Amino acid sequence: RAKETGRHSFRFYTAQMNERSLARITLENHLRRALERGEFVLHYQPKVSLPSGQIVGMEALLRWDSPELGSVPPDAFIPLAEENGLIIPIGTWVLRTACAQNKAWYDAGFPALSVAVNLSPRQFRQQDITAVIAEALAETGLPPHLLELEITESMVMQDATRVASVLNELKRMGASLAMDDFGTGYSSLAYLKRFPFDKLKIDKSFVIDITTDPNNAAIAKAVIAMAHSLHLKVIAEGVETQGQLNYLHDQGCDEIQGYFVSRPVAAGEFMRLLQGQPIAVPSHAAGYPDKT
Ligand code: C2E
Ligand code: MG
Ligand code: MG
Ligand code: MG
Repeated sequence: RAKETGRHSFRFYTAQMNERSLARITLENHLRRALERGEFVLHYQPKVSLPSGQIVGMEALLRWDSPELGSVPPDAFIPLAEENGLIIPIGTWVLRTACAQNKAWYDAGFPALSVAVNLSPRQFRQQDITAVIAEALAETGLPPHLLELEITESMVMQDATRVASVLNELKRMGASLAMDDFGTGYSSLAYLKRFPFDKLKIDKSFVIDITTDPNNAAIAKAVIAMAHSLHLKVIAEGVETQGQLNYLHDQGCDEIQGYFVSRPVAAGEFMRLLQGQPIAVPSHAAGYPDKT
């Protein structure tokens, strides 16, 4: 009996495995053609300065509209692209597209905005990453100080000598550097001091219950103070409520980004946001109204 059960569960297991690897192969095949078929698009999420509520920049976030698979979120295909190397051409496309779009808004006479582009670990390890970025700037004509690169903690943990030389070169070119998702990895103050970061991005997991969880409130407050003492600007991601905005403003947070201001939106819609400013300001009469 035991043997029989074992065999059945084995069969069930392999069927599931096949289904899973088939789904993966399908995804991979579609992903290989997505770039040449023009299925990628960038959405832009505003970054708002406090307390003015003015949009000072935006994060470019990759979207894949696949005719076969529908709208595929980045978390569902970027890890795969990272594994099979497709992230290199995709990442180059993201850099060029984001720089070109920001240059177009710059030329259209909007106040200068900084566009933030996420770099993936593999892309960052690519030998000629600084040349790829320099080319994107040169080809589009975007002033380098209007490009910000978002890099995660895990990416700067190995090979400190190379990391330092890449980051210093990017700074020398005039780009700015933000440490993304701060607090989720092996956050180390040593990295922040050793490398030439301009800005620290508090991860949304610390922001989510900032008005209800005293621990996260204390962490956010401490991170902001610490970053400022290291002369870094601080932005909080994942801000969804007026209460969170108010709290972050009271702690001296420089910028916010999140659904409270706007979801990431297509370029056309982003331009309409630019025209309707300011869009999210602290309201002191309100306190932290989402507190339960
Ligand atoms: P990330 O860089 O930390 O980007 C922030 C994510 O939080 C985005 O998810 C954004 O839509 C989401 N978000 C923004 N505001 C809020 C909010 O108020 N509440 C909540 N719950 N979420 C919010 P998205 O667009 O799905 O991207 C997920 C991740 O995929 C990004 O995390 C980034 O790591 C990666 N990614 C996106 N685009 C690119 C890209 O062009 N290249 C690379 N290498 N990675 C990318
Ligand atoms: Mg990011
Ligand atoms: Mg982030
Ligand atoms: Mg994050």
